Amino acid sequence: MSGRNSLFVPGPTNVPDRILRAMHRAQEDHRSSSFPALTLGIFADLPKIFGSTKGQAFIFPASGTAMWETAIVNALSPGDRVLAVRHGMFSHLFIDTAQRMGMQVEVIEVEWGDAVPAGTIEERLKQDTAGEIKAVLVVHNETATGVTSDMAAVRAAMNAAGHEAMLMVDGVSSVASLDFQLDKWGVDFAISGSQKGFMMPAGLGLLCVGPKGLAAIPKAKSPRAFFDLRDHIKLNGDGYFPYTPALSHLYGLREALDMLLEEGMPAVIARHRRLAEGVRLAVRAWGLHACAKDPACQSDTVTAVVVPDGADAERVRDIAFRRYDLALGAGLGKLRGKVFRIGHLGDLNPLMLLGALAGTEMTMADAGIPIVAGSGVAAAQQWYRSTQA
Ligand SMILES: *Cc1c(COP(=O)(O)O)cnc(C)c1O
Repeated sequence: MSGRNSLFVPGPTNVPDRILRAMHRAQEDHRSSSFPALTLGIFADLPKIFGSTKGQAFIFPASGTAMWETAIVNALSPGDRVLAVRHGMFSHLFIDTAQRMGMQVEVIEVEWGDAVPAGTIEERLKQDTAGEIKAVLVVHNETATGVTSDMAAVRAAMNAAGHEAMLMVDGVSSVASLDFQLDKWGVDFAISGSQKGFMMPAGLGLLCVGPKGLAAIPKAKSPRAFFDLRDHIKLNGDGYFPYTPALSHLYGLREALDMLLEEGMPAVIARHRRLAEGVRLAVRAWGLHACAKDPACQSDTVTAVVVPDGADAERVRDIAFRRYDLALGAGLGKLRGKVFRIGHLGDLNPLMLLGALAGTEMTMADAGIPIVAGSGVAAAQQWYRSTQA
């Protein structure tokens, strides 16, 4: 098919030409005296995107999934008790990782489509008078359901309980797109990756560790080798890595940080809010609803659209891809076939998104879903015309 594929999965996202060009590099000696000129700047700037001046950033040739494991093994010891919330596929997999690394995970089960219940976390921590719970694991933006949870409320709940547990937050689909405040929220380990808000190809696991998290690293007894942050701490300060880093990706990350800092995080966050609102208005105009029920927790980076009973969201996705070269996100786990997802994060503007909404309308009409073609596009157009970038 000619023209570009419309990539509207919630990661990987569109890679701006600026980043592609920056990554197009000859390889070089990663132990040269000039290499730290690149890496030290990255280590200085990356925490800013996590909302941190006190934290330390770590970069691995890996993906977000690996950063779950890295956070767990560097903070905890096998047999440690942790508290986690399951409300979608990514929180499920975070829990699964903790279990496989030998943690005893106490799970707060929440309906898929609801947010992290800060009140329940507070209650459970208050009951733990012996302080057996070592960490709280939450997903800031549950990409499977399109739900953003209130991390300031989780921190407030932990403080109200007077509990010393560490806070581990998965920010893979929120950091660099949504407001993320590691210092203010007292996040001890924040997990991310390169292929969502950072607008890069997949391939980097990104982690930012707060002061209390850093202090936990030498005490953790979990076995670890490649993911041992102590090796990074020894070398990163001088701009080096304990192995061959992903050189092209580091140049891409440098460019991504420049782009984010040039636009400014408040503007990046506002842009995502405005783009998302157009999608929400379109979904409403179609007479459909988002999987995220509470409007206050509807994500500005991804919308999971619930298809009517009897319709198959996987068929919608397949038609979109084959007929219109439009990639929509799949329903994951128990949401398979029930929702399709529109990713609206990264390097995007209203016209790109209007194209995706038009394609989604054509696809749903083809799939026999009774929507009025043009209705969602018109609602989004009206919104983008009446609001400023
Ligand atoms: C994408 C995603 C992950 C997994 O990241 P990978 O880079 O695919 O390993 C984890 N958590 C959330 C919330 C995600 O959106």
